[in-house]
Amino acid sequence: MLGPALLAAARSDGIRRLVSAAPVTRSVVDRFVAGERLPEAVAVSAGLIGSGLTVTLDHLGEDVTDRAQALRTRDAYLELTEALTRAGFGAAAAGTDGAAELSVKLSAFGQALPGGHDLAHRNVRPVVEAAAAAGIGVTLDMEDHSTTDSTLAVHRALREEFPATGAVVQSCLLRTEEDCHALAAAGARVRLVKGAYREPAAVAHQERRAVDLSYVRCLRVLLAGGGYPMLGTHDPRLIAIARTVAERLGRKPDGYEFQMLYGIREHEQRRLAAEGHRVRVYVPYGTDWYAYFMRRLAERPANLAFFLRSLASR
Ligand code: FAD
Repeated sequence: MLGPALLAAARSDGIRRLVSAAPVTRSVVDRFVAGERLPEAVAVSAGLIGSGLTVTLDHLGEDVTDRAQALRTRDAYLELTEALTRAGFGAAAAGTDGAAELSVKLSAFGQALPGGHDLAHRNVRPVVEAAAAAGIGVTLDMEDHSTTDSTLAVHRALREEFPATGAVVQSCLLRTEEDCHALAAAGARVRLVKGAYREPAAVAHQERRAVDLSYVRCLRVLLAGGGYPMLGTHDPRLIAIARTVAERLGRKPDGYEFQMLYGIREHEQRRLAAEGHRVRVYVPYGTDWYAYFMRRLAERPANLAFFLRSLASR
């Protein structure tokens, strides 16, 4: 019951101001966010890479409301790409082997503004180009269902120039199995997640079990296909199923990867990596952490209880 309310709150400016100003919020946020500044994100990434993991960095921000803000997103990612290159985290050649990659949300590049599809494509392209030159991959995060067609179209267009550009699909959406067939046939890098947005019954499964079953169908399609599957989940059952299916299909451990969020199931991240799996940690950083943080609260009531206790103990 709380999840939908928190997801609605994630888009409320009033609640954003309240939560962001709460005196203890930062310490709770720190569990999920690597820091507010770029050097902190690079330092956290260096630690993760040093321990045998790989990373994908997200400069936090979404739903920008003007063009200048969209350009600031582009510049922040260009700066991030330079910092990662200086830190030695690029790969010799563009592809899937880099220790660091970028995750971008097209709404932060202007997708929701008038003419937003073309604007977001125009703004994100220089980032993908600079990253490719540095051997750093880029994955387009997926936002709510109203953006799916546009984001997949930008992904297709970017892949014509930069074939390693990754896409994300959400097993909660009814359309996703079909999208997986198309992306697997096209040989794309695809992150499969359950989906973090509140979606209507007309387009999405409403029961957790249905979302999980859809995840299993989709991972079978991706693992059987010609692309590079990136399985974004902390769910132990789905991870176990993915390993079994991959083995049955003859996928080697370097033919796919698991992805998890910074601060969540860290022991499992290290355990999978120690067993020879590729594990990539999604590392968000920046001052605009509110919506990301609220989605993490919505995923797990215990996180909300922890947050409320920390407020009450002041
Ligand atoms: P769940 O059933 O939610 O969780 C399984 C177990 O994981 C829980 O029992 C708990 O132990 C642990 N867990 C999960 N979430 C939390 C949490 N917040 N706090 C503490 N423990 C937790 N969604 C999108 O819509 N678009 C994206 O582009 C996107 N990118 C993602 C990238 C990565 C690398 C990952 C891992 C997730 C991404 N997501 C994205 C979020 C995803 O859609 C889910 O909301 C999120 O991963 C929770 O689902 P789950 O598969 O972990 O399963």
